[in-house]
Amino acid sequence: MIRKMAADSNICRSIKSVLEKIRIASSKRHEVHQKVSPRLVAVSKTKPVEAIITAYECGQLHFGENYVQELQEKGHNSKILEQCKDIRWHFIGHLQKNKVNKVLGVPNLYMLETVDSMKLAQAVNNSWERLMKPSKLKVMAQVNTSGEQNKHGCSPESVCELVQFIQEKCPSLDLVGLMTIGAYDYDLSKGPNPDFQCLVRCREEVCEKLGLQQEDLELSMGMSGDYEHAIENGSTNVRVGSTIFGARSYPNKGEKTDGAAVSDVANGFADS
Ligand SMILES: *Cc1c(COP(=O)(O)O)cnc(C)c1O
Repeated sequence: MIRKMAADSNICRSIKSVLEKIRIASSKRHEVHQKVSPRLVAVSKTKPVEAIITAYECGQLHFGENYVQELQEKGHNSKILEQCKDIRWHFIGHLQKNKVNKVLGVPNLYMLETVDSMKLAQAVNNSWERLMKPSKLKVMAQVNTSGEQNKHGCSPESVCELVQFIQEKCPSLDLVGLMTIGAYDYDLSKGPNPDFQCLVRCREEVCEKLGLQQEDLELSMGMSGDYEHAIENGSTNVRVGSTIFGARSYPNKGEKTDGAAVSDVANGFADS
């Protein structure tokens, strides 16, 4: 019991400390990035429902998950539905077309950050239309800024086309920003992260070509290791997991399942 309480208050303390660091990093931003205050998405993948409830009770509203089944289970969990009524789920994992309905059916789904093709956008649009929700679904276009084979996302060259497609052909979707995961473990002593710079350039290009305002297009970039740096470079949405909830452990490492271990390794997120 004592251990649980200690762990719980650790979550709260971590959130407060991350929010403070976000505030400080925000004040260091270049003028063009100053207009939007960044949002903290607490990435709760592999972590229990109790940890989410604790974080919610500390005032955290936005949570991110990147496995379809896990988001489904947590989103429909009766304790979460009762105790976290205003929770806002972000789906941040790779989405296959045949799983779109599962993700879109999750109560309190707030944003889908990983639309990376016109086909997926179309499928998401059609699925959201069928659900007849009162408002559009917020989505981001995911860009593969590092060009790594194992990373998902459209190429930086095709992001304009994807954004335009969503805006013109997907009336049920609200394109709110661009997202990147980027290379894992970039050494910040070498200067600004090129993935973040690439996403910033993508936004400039999209805004110029499509006549949008920069402040109307968010940037989702930055995780535990680099969220302050990401914010200083213009991020408006940071996805922070292990710094808040502690390191993840994967009991079934190596097993070929839909679960955490394999995809996390593939995404470069495995904690050693
Ligand atoms: C797991 C994950 C994160 C959080 O990673 P941490 O290093 O634990 O902060 C962020 N974004 C995505 C897409 C993830 O899958």
